[in-house]
Amino acid sequence: MVLLTKQRITFIDDAARQAVEDALLHRRFGEDLVIVRLLSNIQIPRRMLRANRRNLLLRDDGTCQYCGKSLPSSQLSVDHVVPTSRGGSGGSWQNQVIACRRCNGRKGNRLLSEAGMRLIRPPRALTQEYAHLIFLRYPQLKHAYDRLLSSTRVLV
Ligand SMILES: [Zn+2]
Repeated sequence: MVLLTKQRITFIDDAARQAVEDALLHRRFGEDLVIVRLLSNIQIPRRMLRANRRNLLLRDDGTCQYCGKSLPSSQLSVDHVVPTSRGGSGGSWQNQVIACRRCNGRKGNRLLSEAGMRLIRPPRALTQEYAHLIFLRYPQLKHAYDRLLSSTRVLV
């Protein structure tokens, strides 16, 4: 709303404009998404992201990085790929992955090669790009954005 009144954004089509006008009129703000177009670049501060449990769960999609199982976060733990007791870094993105209890227990205090286990993908730092982070947190927004990109009218 702030960006609208400052005329920094515009609606991408009439349907989007109508949806917002209806919401304002009826004071009903549901879960619906309206994608708007920036009229000029807006500086959005980058945030330094720490490799804490919450962000690791985001990066790894709540999925065990050894067996690929998706589980509720209460059943997932943070595993140090190279155990800290064996010189692995304690707080880095590259040395921490989300693991289910079973895989974490199976791996124990061993290196991957010793345990005969492998990661389903290399652990990278979660990008600090704001949009990427927002998309991870709100998958529905990502779907809406993908739909937008696949429609031709955005190219106008
Ligand atoms: Zn697992």
